Amino acid sequence: MTPTPNPAAAPKADLLNLTRSELEAFVVEDLRQPRFRADQLWHWLWSRGVHSFAEMTNLSKDLKAKLATRADIIWPEVDVVRTSRDGTIKLLLRLADGERIETVLIPMGEHYTQCLSTQVGCAMACTFCSTGELGLTRNMTMGEILGQVMVGRAHLAQVGLPTVRNLVFMGMGEPLMNLTELLRSLETLGSAEGISIASRRSTVSSVGIPAALKILGDSGLAVPAISLHAPTQELRERLMPKAARVPLPELMASLDAYPIRPRERVTYEYIMLGGVNDSIAHAKQLVRLLGQRRCKVNLIGYNPPPPQAGVTPPYRAPEQADVLAFEEYLRSKRITTFLRRSMGQDIAAACGQLKLLAGETVGDNRDGNGD
Ligand code: SF4
Repeated sequence: MTPTPNPAAAPKADLLNLTRSELEAFVVEDLRQPRFRADQLWHWLWSRGVHSFAEMTNLSKDLKAKLATRADIIWPEVDVVRTSRDGTIKLLLRLADGERIETVLIPMGEHYTQCLSTQVGCAMACTFCSTGELGLTRNMTMGEILGQVMVGRAHLAQVGLPTVRNLVFMGMGEPLMNLTELLRSLETLGSAEGISIASRRSTVSSVGIPAALKILGDSGLAVPAISLHAPTQELRERLMPKAARVPLPELMASLDAYPIRPRERVTYEYIMLGGVNDSIAHAKQLVRLLGQRRCKVNLIGYNPPPPQAGVTPPYRAPEQADVLAFEEYLRSKRITTFLRRSMGQDIAAACGQLKLLAGETVGDNRDGNGD
């Protein structure tokens, strides 16, 4: 006689890790429920931000009991909250397997922009980046990537602040090295009755991997921001040796082919390292590279790691006069240029600083001010 399968013995489904169509399949095929139950669940999970079946008031008692034995809703746990003098909030999160990552909430007038991590650590080892020193531990799942948004929104609501409107995939990790989960996340973000953050409000920051850029472009789900940081192949090899394995001409050709809408432009991120890439000669080289392209440039002053990190910074911050002269030169050549204000520097939440600091332990500085 064939033994009857015991559903309770099957691994539980992680509901935040299912796309809309996967959730429908789970509800219809595994739970033997009508399709509209998937719509109700989706709404509770992503729009209402509920993470207990008991709170799902329009589900029957039987269905809630069944869900409790067959599925989980796993949000990352908040280990540490740090708030900067400028209002930037860094959340240190613990994933289900104990790995820790960071997400940053950046105030932008009437709303927040959230910076999301996509990997635990990073394999790219860019020389100016604290995350790169960690090496790569593993990719994050869609549930973990979007779990950051749920936790971020809940935190802002709890402390009475406006919600997240824009997302930047610019935290720990190289998003295009985790392409499958990135695409699943972007698809879920835009789905109706969910988090509903339109693709034009999501920016994927990458060192630039042509094959992955082609897939991202074909998906139409996001516009990239390229971590360029050097105007020549030679300097890029020094600053970003792994990323520069893709020769600059090949990277630029793949970006020229990226499908962008008429009013969109590819963003180039340029971290200014004192005495390394911040001279007018470098600005001239950058104009030669980008001058004929539909682009905008974000200039970011290098943030040395804070003293509590206990490391000697590999670079120094640029002089303000050099930054302004660089910006002025690009603008004089009609390149749209923004000087990005460095947010959250005092709590190591600024660009290139995301790394679990020695002092950041469970319960440390919860809801406190990081300075
Ligand atoms: S800058 Fe980005 S890609 Fe480079 S090491 Fe840091 S996290 Fe990785």
